[in-house]
Amino acid sequence: MNWNLFGHNLAITCLKKHTDPEIIRHAYLITGPEGVGKRTLALAFVKTLNCTRPKQADEFCGECVTCRQIDAQNYPDLTIIAPEPGKDLRIEQIRSMQQTLALAPYQSPYRVVVVLNFHRATASASNALLKSLEEPPSRAILILTADAAENLLPTIASRCEVLRLRPEPVEVAAEGLEKQFGLTPELARRYAHLTSGRIGASLNLERDPQALSVYEDALEALEEMLPAKYRERLIGVDALLKGKQTPREVAAVIVPAWLTWWRDCLMANAGADVPLVNLEHQTQIKKTASQLEAKTIQELLEALEAALGQIDSYVNARLILENLALSMPRFGTN
Ligand SMILES: [Zn+2]
Repeated sequence: MNWNLFGHNLAITCLKKHTDPEIIRHAYLITGPEGVGKRTLALAFVKTLNCTRPKQADEFCGECVTCRQIDAQNYPDLTIIAPEPGKDLRIEQIRSMQQTLALAPYQSPYRVVVVLNFHRATASASNALLKSLEEPPSRAILILTADAAENLLPTIASRCEVLRLRPEPVEVAAEGLEKQFGLTPELARRYAHLTSGRIGASLNLERDPQALSVYEDALEALEEMLPAKYRERLIGVDALLKGKQTPREVAAVIVPAWLTWWRDCLMANAGADVPLVNLEHQTQIKKTASQLEAKTIQELLEALEAALGQIDSYVNARLILENLALSMPRFGTN
C-alpha cells in the first residue's frame, strides 16, 4: 500500500520525489474524473510534507497531531477552497486565497493552498490565478484539482506539474474495495461497476445513501426511456439535467450506471451464469435481454464506452446523454 491509497502508483512515486526541498515545485495540477482520488492524493502529499512522525522521509504516519489536523482540514498552513455546490469558482475566492498564500507559513516549511474543481473557475478567476503561478510567493505551494487539463487555460497547466489520475479497471477496483476497505464482495463489485472503477466514488456510495440513490434514479430513468418515444426520451434527459449539477457531473453518474445495466443485459442475453450487478433490476433486464440480439446490445455498449471516454473532454455532455438516449432500442408498450 502506497500512502494508504489504492492505485495511482505513478503519481505517488512522482510526488514522493517532490517532497525533496530541492525538487518541490510551486504548483501542481491533479486531474481525473470525479471520485477518482484527486483530493485524497493532494492531502496525502501535504501530510507527507508535514508529518512529525514519519516512518521514512517520503511517508506519513496518519496519527500524529499534524496528520490528523490535515485530515480534519484545520491545519494552520493548509487552506482548501472549492466552488460552492452548483456554482462557479469565483474571482473573490481566488483573491482571498492569494492573500493567504502570500503569508509566511505558521509552523510548517510551506504554506499550501488546495483549490478543488478548478475546471469550474470563471474566466476572470482563472486569469487571477495565473498571477500566482507566474510570480509564486516563496514557500508557497498551490495544488489544483480539475477533471481534465484540457479544460483549463493552457497557460495554467503548463506552469504546473501535472498528475493525471485514471480509474482502476473495474475488477481491480472491486478487489481493492473488498480487501483494503472491507466491503463485502457483492457490494465491492456493484460499486466498482457503478463508478467505473473510481475508488473514492465507490467509498462515497458506501458511506452516503443519498449518493447511491442518484445511481438508482439513473437506472430508473433508463427503464422509463425504453418504451418511450424519442421526443419523450429527450424530455427524460432534460429532467436528469434539471438539478444543481453541471451536465458533465450528471453524465459522470448516468453513463457508468447505464453501462452496468446494459452489461447486465448482455450477460442475461448470453445466459451467462454470473450474478448481475443490478440484481434489483433483474426482471426488467432479463425481459429486455430476451427481446434483443446480442449484436444490438454490444453496439450500445460500445457507444456507452465511447461516451464514458468523452465525458471529461470538450464534448458537450448534454449531447452525449441525448445521443445515448436516442440510440437505445425502442420497445413497444407493454
Ligand atoms: Zn503524521
